[in-house]
Amino acid sequence: MTTDNRWRILVDPGKCIGSGVCAGTAPGHFTLDGGYSVPIADEVDPDEAVVNAAESCPMEAILVRETGSDTVIAPEL
Ligand code: SF4
Repeated sequence: MTTDNRWRILVDPGKCIGSGVCAGTAPGHFTLDGGYSVPIADEVDPDEAVVNAAESCPMEAILVRETGSDTVIAPEL
């Protein structure tokens, strides 16, 4: 049996300052709306660009989890 884990992307609007780093790092996954970042899709196939965006966010506003589990993919603690 194969498991197709997907990733869930969350942006905390209370932390995001709209720097746009995430949209610049992963333009296929984040866009700015009203001055804040929003994920283009809540669930995505694993993509290193999403990890890079989460690691690059100056406010640590981005959280990437595996769907169906509590496993945090990024950012690293
Ligand atoms: S990098 Fe972080 S603070 Fe900047 S827009 Fe993206 S989520 Fe917001």
